Amino acid sequence: PYAAIGVEINVDHVSAVATGLAGERLLTWRRAFTGGESVSQGVAGVGAIIRRVVNRMAKEERQVLGLAVAVPGLIDVQGTVRIAPNLGWREADLGGDLAKALRDPGFPVQVDNDANLAALAEQRFGAHAGASDLVYLTGEIGVGAGIILDGRLRRGGLGYSGEIGHVQLDPDGPACHCGRRGCLEAMAGIGAVLGKDPSPAEIQVEIEETVRLARAGDAGTLAAIESAGRNLGKGVSILVNLLNPEVVILGGHYVALAPWLLPPVHAELGHRVIAAQAGGCQVVASTLGHDAAALGGAARVLDSIDSGRLPG
Ligand code: BGC
Ligand code: ZN
Repeated sequence: PYAAIGVEINVDHVSAVATGLAGERLLTWRRAFTGGESVSQGVAGVGAIIRRVVNRMAKEERQVLGLAVAVPGLIDVQGTVRIAPNLGWREADLGGDLAKALRDPGFPVQVDNDANLAALAEQRFGAHAGASDLVYLTGEIGVGAGIILDGRLRRGGLGYSGEIGHVQLDPDGPACHCGRRGCLEAMAGIGAVLGKDPSPAEIQVEIEETVRLARAGDAGTLAAIESAGRNLGKGVSILVNLLNPEVVILGGHYVALAPWLLPPVHAELGHRVIAAQAGGCQVVASTLGHDAAALGGAARVLDSIDSGRLPG
């Protein structure tokens, strides 16, 4: 039997998913950076994780058909990370480094944007699987869109489409890790919800605490989520006016915050979306949770093979 592997490298975690040919899950693995470590300490660490997954597949006598790695940034066709603002990576040759770390793995290694891969996962495995026009929005420190139109992932000329997170909402707004101010992600990303720029180690606990306070009706917490939600609604309105998707799927940490985030998003859509579009697009929380991008890596591998031509 065969296996497809997807890995996500993000600010606060690394995840891996392996599936079989029909997309059935063989393995799910996640490591949150809760102890102050981070991926910037080395691609070698990620290579070691991937080797462990590959070895597991070998033990199960599965041949790995390919690996796709999700990164929160702009990736060129060679697999160079041109910029990953929240990892602090610029011109990082991740594709090359992984090839070295994996030493002739015997299967193709691809590097792709996290939102792109998560959108592929939604298209294949999500609650709106099969939708021909969907947008996935990451809910991390960074905000990015994976855009599927007419059934296909739309990457743009150099592969950098979907950077809605760096669309400027307010020239005097808070600083963004891309070096500018008032970007959507600085105003509606997780940092905006938490009201600070959390360290990777803090994000998960801070989100849990925010959810607890929101449930308890804490006024300051509710106001912060509402304000981030309004800004998010502005961003979603741009996507809806521009792309006319059937569904916009909020992923990552947005999922846990959805009960409080969705009402202001809908309110903004009501004001900002041009009449003919109104009500034509659903905005929902992802059902794939934090594995979406890694799962999407496996989906990308499955999309790129012609299973009818595999031996056995
Ligand atoms: C990056 C995007 C990425 C998003 C979500 C943004 O800061 O520019 O490429 O998809 O964060 O991780
Ligand atoms: Zn920015």
